[in-house]
Amino acid sequence: MKPAPFDWQAPETVEAALALKSVHGDGARFIAGGQSLVPAMNFRVAQPGVLIDLSRVAGLDSLAWSPDGSLRIGAMVRYRAIERDAEVARHLPLILEALAEVAHPQIRTRGTLGGNLCHADPASEMPAVMLALQARMEVRGPGGTRILPAADFFLGPLTTALAEDEMLAAIMVPPLPAGAGTAFLELARRRGDYAMMGVAAVLRRDGAGRCAEARLAFCSAGPTPMAAPGAAALLVGTALAAADIAAAAEAAKAEIEPMGSVQASPAYQRHLAGVLAARALTLAAERAA
Ligand SMILES: Cc1cc2nc3c(=O)[nH]c(=O)nc-3n(C[C@H](O)[C@H](O)[C@H](O)COP(=O)(O)OP(=O)(O)OC[C@H]3O[C@@H](n4cnc5c(N)ncnc54)[C@H](O)[C@@H]3O)c2cc1C
Repeated sequence: MKPAPFDWQAPETVEAALALKSVHGDGARFIAGGQSLVPAMNFRVAQPGVLIDLSRVAGLDSLAWSPDGSLRIGAMVRYRAIERDAEVARHLPLILEALAEVAHPQIRTRGTLGGNLCHADPASEMPAVMLALQARMEVRGPGGTRILPAADFFLGPLTTALAEDEMLAAIMVPPLPAGAGTAFLELARRRGDYAMMGVAAVLRRDGAGRCAEARLAFCSAGPTPMAAPGAAALLVGTALAAADIAAAAEAAKAEIEPMGSVQASPAYQRHLAGVLAARALTLAAERAA
C-alpha cells in the first residue's frame, strides 16, 4: 500500500512547528517515529496533506532529571533511548518492564514516547504506565504551555485533549515514593502484539509493612487507559496478604470497561484483568521495601 501524496516540512523549533500546524490545521499531522501514522497513511485511514516532521525540532529529544528526582522526557525521545538509560532502569523500573512488551526492537528504535501517547491507543502499554506513575503532559500551543495530568490527557480511543493547534512537548514523571514496588504484566497472543489485557501496579508500604499507597492502571480495558482507584483504595491499610490482593483484584474487574476484540471477548478480558492484577500486585508487594 502507498500513502496519498503529501508535502513534508521539517521545522527546527517548536514555534515553527506550531506555526505550520496553525496554517495547515486539520490537513497537517505531526510525525514523530511514524510507527503508527505511516501504517495508517499506507492504509489511507489517514491522508494528511502535510507532514510536520518533529525529528529536527531542537529540545524535544532529551531526558532530564530534576534535583527532586522527577524526570522530564521530551516528546521525541525514542523508546530505545529510554530502554537504554541506566537511571530510568534504577528509578523508574516500571517504564522498562512495560517497554519490553511494546512492539519489537525495530519499532522501538524509531517509535517515540510522545508519539505513542498522542496516538492514544487504549491497548497501548505506555498510557497505562503514565497513569500509574501520575505523569503530567507538557502541552505547547500558540497561547503558551499548559500542563495536563495523564488522567485528563486521554479522552477516548485515538483521542487526546490536545487541541488541533497544540503539540505534546514533554512528559513529566514524578519520582516514585521511596521504597515503592512496581510491576507491569500483560497477556498478548504473540510477543510484541498489543495486549489483550495489561496492568501496571504501584505499591508503597509504611514503616510497619502495611500498604500506605496503591495504584492500578490497565491497558486494553476500556476506551482509554483505565485506573482502578476503588480497588487500589481497598489495599490501603492492609498487610498486602494474598486475601487482600485477591479482593482488590476482584474489585478492579468491576472498574474497567473492556470493549472486546477479535482476540478476546469483554468477559475474557475482565477475567484476565483479575488474574493479572493479582499477579502484578503480588510482585509489586514483594518489590516494595
Ligand atoms: C507492528 C507494530 C506493532 C506495534 N505494537 C505495539 C504495542 O504492542 N504496543 C504499543 O503501545 N504500540 C505498538 N505499536 C505502535 C508503536 O508503539 C508506535 O511507535 C507508537 O504508537 C507511535 O509512536 P510514533 O513515535 O511512531 O508516532 P507517530 O506514528 O509518528 O505518530 C502517532 C500519532 O501521534 C501524533 N503525534 C506524534 N507526536 C506528536 C506530538 N509531539 N504532539 C502531537 N501529536 C503528535 C501524530 O500526528 C500521529 O497522529 C506497534 C506498531 C507496529 C508497526
